[in-house]
Amino acid sequence: MEAPAERLPKLPLTLGHENAGWVEKLGPGATGFAPGDPVMVYGPWGCGTCASCRVGMENYCEVSGGLGGGLAGPDGGMAPYMLVPATRFLIPLGTLDPREAARSATRG
Ligand SMILES: [Zn+2]
Repeated sequence: MEAPAERLPKLPLTLGHENAGWVEKLGPGATGFAPGDPVMVYGPWGCGTCASCRVGMENYCEVSGGLGGGLAGPDGGMAPYMLVPATRFLIPLGTLDPREAARSATRG
């Protein structure tokens, strides 16, 4: 089965859809985080308002398709910096080092 053309990423694209790191800076109007905060990046980037998103199934977003950075949208985590469009896609890690979070995720 072949993916529909509208779901294919626009190239060039830097891959990386499972990400952890530190906030570098916030865009205009962004709140809730500060530069240096350790975070994970939620993978599915839904619109937040359609029926699927409202029940927490952003991976089935009826507007965006739920594909986040590194899959179909902006560059992913293998790029030097990753632009995340909304702070609701960031998960605070508290005192956990993002590198350790990534290692733990790959160990299962
Ligand atoms: Zn949606």
